[in-house]
Amino acid sequence: MSDCIFCKIASGEINASIVYQDDEVVAFNDLNPQAPTHVLVIPRKHVSRVSELEEADAALAGRLILTANQIVRDLGLVEAGYRLVLNCNEGAGQSVWHVHLHLLGGRTFGWPPG
Ligand code: 5GP
Ligand code: ZN
Repeated sequence: MSDCIFCKIASGEINASIVYQDDEVVAFNDLNPQAPTHVLVIPRKHVSRVSELEEADAALAGRLILTANQIVRDLGLVEAGYRLVLNCNEGAGQSVWHVHLHLLGGRTFGWPPG
């Protein structure tokens, strides 16, 4: 999508601090981190929100989680704990309309989330 900021990050048109990328997904540091580690994992394919992922996207949806798991393993964050978050729509705090998995780590997290 031409006016989507995360599509532009995926294509390299806009700079981001990329921590991992392959044919399907891109992971980059959040511009406004909410934890010592705050990475966003996105599909290269433009999907506006998690609720729009379909049966055909099952493997892609899995890639988002497996990519996050590899990153936390590489960073040594698994044992301490980490949080994966998908905000869907304004009521849940979604502000960028390209599905993204938040990977948060490096501190403790309260529950329930705000
Ligand atoms: P949401 O609120 O939609 O769940 O999360 C959007 C996230 O994208 C926010 O944490 C915000 O800081 C991050 N973000 C917004 N624009 C940019 C950008 O241009 N670059 C990067 N790296 N992160 C961004
Ligand atoms: Zn997009």
